[in-house]
Formats: sequence, C-alpha cells, structure tokens
Amino acid sequence: RLSKRLEAVASYIPKGSILADIGSDHAYLPCYALNKEIIKKGIAGEVSEGPLKSAQNQVRASGLTERIDVRKGDGLEVISPDEVDCITIAGMGGTLISTILEQGRNKLKGVKRLILQPNIGARNVRIWLLENGWELIQEEILEEDQKIYEILVAEPGNPNTPYDRGNRDASLLMGPFLIQEKNPIFEKKWALEKAHMQRILIQIEKSGQGSELAAKKVELRDNINIVEEILKS
Ligand code: SAM
Repeated sequence: RLSKRLEAVASYIPKGSILADIGSDHAYLPCYALNKEIIKKGIAGEVSEGPLKSAQNQVRASGLTERIDVRKGDGLEVISPDEVDCITIAGMGGTLISTILEQGRNKLKGVKRLILQPNIGARNVRIWLLENGWELIQEEILEEDQKIYEILVAEPGNPNTPYDRGNRDASLLMGPFLIQEKNPIFEKKWALEKAHMQRILIQIEKSGQGSELAAKKVELRDNINIVEEILKS
C-alpha cells in the first residue's frame, strides 16, 4: 500500500498523463499511478545508484518495464523537452526541489502540471514558482506518522494570482491556499514552527554577535510575527 503522503501526491496527477517522477527512489509513485490507470506512461528519475536499483526492481516486480522507464541522472536531465506533461518531485527539501527546477528549466517545455512535495522549506518552492511563471493552483497539508507534509500544485499561468489577496510574505511562507483553509494540521505545524523559531532566536540572543546573526535575528522575528498574525486571525 502506498503511503498516505504519496497517495495524496498521486491524486493531483491528471488522468492520462505522461509522468516524470524525479527522485523516485523505489518508484512506488509511478507504479501506483500506472496500476490505477492514472498515467499512460512513466519515467522514474534517480541520481543515486541504490535508489535506482530499487526503482528498477520495483518496476520489474510490478511487470511494468514496458511502461515505466527508469533513468539515471541528476534532476530533469533524464527527460527531454515536450516528453512529459506532468512532473512530480516528492520527499526532498524545498531548496533541492527549487534547484532541480531551476537547473532543468529548458526541460519544462510542454509540462502542464508540477506536483511538488517539499519536506521542509516550501517557501523556496513558492518563490521559484512565482519567479518562473508557474501559478500555484492548489495546496494540501497532511500528517502521517507524526510528520507534517505539504503538497504544492502548479500550472503555467499568472504566478501572481494566488498572492493577489492577503499578506504576500505570509502567503509565501505559509501558503496562500493553506492560510485560507487554516485547518488543524496547519495550525499544529505553525505552532511547532513558531516554538522552534523562538528557541533558535533565544540561542542566538544568548551567544551570537556579528552581522550575519543580526540578519538571522531579524528574519526570525519577522517570521514569528507573521505566524502569530496568521494563527490569531
Ligand atoms: N520521491 C520518493 C518519495 O517521496 O517517497 C523518494 C524520496 S527520497 C527521500 C529522495 C530521493 O531523491 C532519493 O532517492 C535521492 O537519491 C533522490 N535525489 C536527490 N537529489 C536528486 C537529484 N538531483 N536528481 C534525482 N534524484 C535525486
């Protein structure tokens, strides 16, 4: 059975897609999407040898070698422009996801939807989308095994639309759709994040000097204020 997290990612793949799953590891996501007839064809991309092998084994064991291609390479290097219409990148940090998108920009031609699941640092992903013509169209937050995950869905469009209302800094940090919905998982995540940021701030105030730390303090205070505002509104 697929994890609740990857099942949620799969639920945003348009039916009939040709999918590239980047950083696929065990290739559970493309195998599941093919078995459920969500996708016609899949590419599982992996940069590391171990996960690549486990993807190959999983695809073979599922009898899907004709329809899921396992390819070794860094990020979007494994696909050609106009080859796929949907890309999933799940289970990595937001900075890595943004780097993969940035370095593979010329491969995004023809792609109609990105489904991104950063484990941390979703703000980086939202900023990349905003700066590169991708409109965030949906967000989801979910909890599984005491971890909280966010899913960001984007399509080519007007990247400013989701930020037209509300506080832009807050929307980039916490997610424009997630702020609107403000469900209990979102409230839990940000109560934890706020406590975490406050602990770091106290540490810095005790020990730190220097301009880099001063900038970090400002950033932490700004973010703590944003989170407090949103949680009480
Ligand atoms: N996507 C799966 C999931 O969500 O369960 C696997 C997540 S796993 C934690 C991250 C995978 O991304 C690892 O297997 C790693 O080798 C792969 N990875 C990291 N950087 C990558 C890159 N630049 N290109 C392709 N794969 C990468």
